[in-house]
Amino acid sequence: MIRILAIAVAAAIVPLAALAEPCPGKPQALGTERVIEVDAKTTPRVGRKHFPSTLPLRSKELVLTFDDGPWPATTSKILDALKHECVRATFFLLGRHVEEYPDLARRELAEGHTVGHHTFSHPLLSHMSLARAEAEINRGIAEDESAVYGQRRTNPATPFFRFPGFASNRGLLDRMGERGLVVFGADVWASDWNRMSPAQELRLILSRIEEVDRGIVLFHDTKAHTARMLPAFLRELKRRGFHIVHVVPAENPG
Ligand SMILES: [Zn+2]
Repeated sequence: MIRILAIAVAAAIVPLAALAEPCPGKPQALGTERVIEVDAKTTPRVGRKHFPSTLPLRSKELVLTFDDGPWPATTSKILDALKHECVRATFFLLGRHVEEYPDLARRELAEGHTVGHHTFSHPLLSHMSLARAEAEINRGIAEDESAVYGQRRTNPATPFFRFPGFASNRGLLDRMGERGLVVFGADVWASDWNRMSPAQELRLILSRIEEVDRGIVLFHDTKAHTARMLPAFLRELKRRGFHIVHVVPAENPG
């Protein structure tokens, strides 16, 4: 119990403490503007691509999220780019990749990022029975928690979940709500599952961000073009006056 509390406290305090000194020695860095707690009681489902509402963000505020990792060739480059700009993001982990590369998952947490969950093997859960779908979700969570926190459990330290392919249904959404898991959709897609050059991806994502003004941005840290584009993307956000918001679990969930 004490260990669980310690993790919860550390998760809440680390990003807040970082705000006091936004990016030591790098006044030109993008930085992380603020931290918000996200609670399933008040915001059970977020992201306007699939749900009616999103996080309470102000104009020009973005939450950066990365799915499907960790993946060795690309996740480490993405972590380097985020670290260089003192930006904190959220990673939705795939259990089968965590099983292979647990050190990368641990590095994400150690560098102050939020670690959410994205199943074990990325099936489209809406096509499965509720029991099979939940078993797949739990297998992913248990693998992630085991690697990151050393505890194989299905009630995760950070109760954030994203459906593979955004494929959910009413029964699954209700079940996530009962369990207190916040379902993350997105407000902006990088569409980086398509083949494109880093320059093409940069132009596309910047135009989409300008159009929506604020929101949750979806990338994939398994994609080489995303990893190559990220340093320029973060510099361009700074130049255009965007701010990064980091999402963390509520310290005392309602
Ligand atoms: Zn995915």
